[in-house]
Amino acid sequence: MIDITYRPMLENDVLEKARELARTIVAKEANDVNTKAQWPLKSIKALQESGLAGLMVPAAYGGLGLGLSALVKVCEILGEVNASVSMCFGMHCVGSAVIAAKATGFQKEKYLRPIAEGRHITTLALSEPGTGAHFYYPQTQLFFTSQDRFLINGRKSFVTNGGQADSYVISTAGVEPEATAHQFSCIVLDKDTPGMHWEEPWNGLGMKGNSSRGLVLENIEIPATHLLGEQGDQLWYVFNIVAPYFLMAMAGTYLGVAQAGFSEAQQHLLKRSHTHSGAMLGQVPVLQHRLGTLWAKVERTRRLIYHAAAGGDAADPAALYGILSAKAEVATCVVDVVNEAMTLTGGIAYRDNSKFEILLHDARAAHIMSPTTDLLYTWLGRALLDQPILSE
Ligand SMILES: Cc1cc2nc3c(=O)[nH]c(=O)nc-3n(C[C@H](O)[C@H](O)[C@H](O)COP(=O)(O)OP(=O)(O)OC[C@H]3O[C@@H](n4cnc5c(N)ncnc54)[C@H](O)[C@@H]3O)c2cc1C
Repeated sequence: MIDITYRPMLENDVLEKARELARTIVAKEANDVNTKAQWPLKSIKALQESGLAGLMVPAAYGGLGLGLSALVKVCEILGEVNASVSMCFGMHCVGSAVIAAKATGFQKEKYLRPIAEGRHITTLALSEPGTGAHFYYPQTQLFFTSQDRFLINGRKSFVTNGGQADSYVISTAGVEPEATAHQFSCIVLDKDTPGMHWEEPWNGLGMKGNSSRGLVLENIEIPATHLLGEQGDQLWYVFNIVAPYFLMAMAGTYLGVAQAGFSEAQQHLLKRSHTHSGAMLGQVPVLQHRLGTLWAKVERTRRLIYHAAAGGDAADPAALYGILSAKAEVATCVVDVVNEAMTLTGGIAYRDNSKFEILLHDARAAHIMSPTTDLLYTWLGRALLDQPILSE
């Protein structure tokens, strides 16, 4: 029977909720997250309690069933206040979308419902030390020990929410003699599965609260019910789910960081005056011009990202170009805007513990988060030339 009392929040309500949480709990926790490299427990809990952690879970399992546009905008709102919170939340959303794409009955009950009810955080562990930026070519080995059990051995790197999440979506390569080349599969592992060993705590230049840790997978034995989709589906997940959801979550996060940098500079020009002239900095033509240039850079990047997300939600085949370029463009935008905004804000921006110390360090991660900027433009070129995206 259909439950007519259940009404998922509409996108506008979700964004209003996200703004309220960003203004209050996320802002309050930001200092501890950024200075003590503390995983943002309070912010993530608040997002769970508000129902927002079920953003990508279909309404049939109690989630909000929203798409890429909502993901971009929630990450933008969170990223403007704290990039680590946005990244941790974003990776949970990407992991949720991967689980939801082809979930079995077991996986719906074990993962999707608890995620929607705010009782479960998941995340994505694809990158490996061996293949680096080529996260879609895992070397972690998956071996069938019987018809319905697997053995997993390998190593993952930079697992955001590492040691904090309740489950981990990992990628593996088949090692049976009959496994074809590139027979990669996705598996969901529960936290504390015997054989999972976390490497040292995350100590990043920025994205301080991410807990992006290395993970050793040693003789992990699990039932085949943890396989996502079919064996060999990993590349399908990478291009149909991971790429769009991850790229949009990251684009939103770094758009928020760029906006934060812009706003700092704007506020400085509005408030700062010199005693010798009595003039406000905001009255100096060259500074007006430079601020205007920054606004245009952020806004045109925002429009590209929103356009890409809306195209993805509408399943427009041309959305691929926008989705690939959005994260590459935002990476350049955020680094440029934060740098330039820092110049406009003057000496106080350069002080130890200034807001720019955090923004600059967080912004620099945008280019290196894979698919990296170089890979994205190469993939975009190949797509435009009608060539296979992975031709290396
Ligand atoms: C803060 C943070 C959080 C992260 N969180 C996650 C996570 O949650 N899950 C996850 O799976 N991963 C995560 N990662 C990993 C990330 O997505 C990248 O995979 C990783 O940073 C890149 O790998 P690498 O450092 O080994 O780079 P390398 O492979 O050494 O690459 C170095 C540079 O060379 C370039 N390069 C490499 N090969 C080519 C090529 N063929 N053509 C052109 N350029 C190339 C790359 O673009 C890059 O700029 C995270 C990383 C960071 C920094």
